[in-house]
Amino acid sequence: MKVLVINCGSSSLKYQLIDSETEKALAVGLCERIGIDGCLKHTPDGGEKHVFNIDLPNHEVAIQSVLAALTNAEYGVIRDLSEIDAVGHRVVHGGEQFASSVVITPEVIRAIADCNDLAPLHNPANLIGIDACMNLMPGVPQVAVFDTAFHQTMPKEAYLYGLPYEYYDKYKVRRYGFHGTSHSYVSKRAMEVGGLEPENSKIVVCHLGNGASVSAVLNGKSVDTSMGLTPLEGLIMGTRSGDIDPAIMEFIAKKEGLDINGVMTVLNKKSGVFGMSGVSSDFRDLDKAAGEGNVHAQDAINTFAYGVAKYVGAYAAAMNGIDGIAFTAGVGENDGKVRKLICKYFGYLGVAIDDAKNSIRGEEVIISTPDSRVKVMVIPTNEELAIARETVALI
Ligand code: AMP
Repeated sequence: MKVLVINCGSSSLKYQLIDSETEKALAVGLCERIGIDGCLKHTPDGGEKHVFNIDLPNHEVAIQSVLAALTNAEYGVIRDLSEIDAVGHRVVHGGEQFASSVVITPEVIRAIADCNDLAPLHNPANLIGIDACMNLMPGVPQVAVFDTAFHQTMPKEAYLYGLPYEYYDKYKVRRYGFHGTSHSYVSKRAMEVGGLEPENSKIVVCHLGNGASVSAVLNGKSVDTSMGLTPLEGLIMGTRSGDIDPAIMEFIAKKEGLDINGVMTVLNKKSGVFGMSGVSSDFRDLDKAAGEGNVHAQDAINTFAYGVAKYVGAYAAAMNGIDGIAFTAGVGENDGKVRKLICKYFGYLGVAIDDAKNSIRGEEVIISTPDSRVKVMVIPTNEELAIARETVALI
């Protein structure tokens, strides 16, 4: 089966065409600057990247261009659109309505739209992508895979906030958590790689990328995660602050003369390791600057690592122990130095890291020593493959 996986943002659209038998991507690509001017980058498996600066006034035209690229005689990978058996859409927020992936129907579209308030930047864009695919590929099954769904198994004590209960009742203000497709995929792979039993395992997944979150996965189910109502809560991230004293918002607003939108922009776009270091949101730049003696860059890395370690400790308490820790996403998969910094806090858990294994990049590997009491692993995430698998399972 061939599944087109679509991840639609407000002005961008990522895609992969995946063969579900081989689980290989036949083509990957990206539309950027949709609604501004437009650019399509398309790479067939084993081929060169093709870059087209074309007018992309809206998402429907963007998807039309993607379909034209996929069926192009020179750099395409299928003869015609009838070869696409299904489309899997990443949808950011499924609220409390979706605890698993679903085949998209008019009712599902309405229910996703009901969650727009909870993810005003993402869900409307996801819906535009769904609508465009339904128009251009009538009759082809479409599946929604939610970032929040995996975390719907959290118990109440993990998802309620210390706020007036009426906000939960009226507006569904609670912890939802994100990166669910990644936490689900990586925790399953961690069980296989680490030889842990799905029904008897305590795993912490550290998804450390530009956005970053940690989850506690008990017997295959998410029981807690660091992101909350929105992806702003939890770890220090590339440009997001993560957890802060909420009163800082009023304090900064008064001092800097900002309104609520101004403060939110600071917390979402100007904070994190970028704001702390004044250097970059990218850990490669931070590692380099820290190596050259930049104290702010080193402080940002240290504070980030300490924050991850604190969440892992909290989840050891939540699950009464840990059998496995899995690192994933850009930083988690590639930055051995940061992994080492985090793991140095885990002596009390009986963690011991093998430095040679910790220097391996881009593959599934156990980086703890054979006598380590907790298996520490690097598991490259593959959200697109996870979406394709969910899509195939549903249709
Ligand atoms: P992601 O959001 O998962 O795509 O992760 C992107 C982030 O991963 C980048 O902003 C970098 O901070 C980090 N990253 C990617 N490659 C490396 C690397 N080789 N070493 C350190 N950090 C990396």
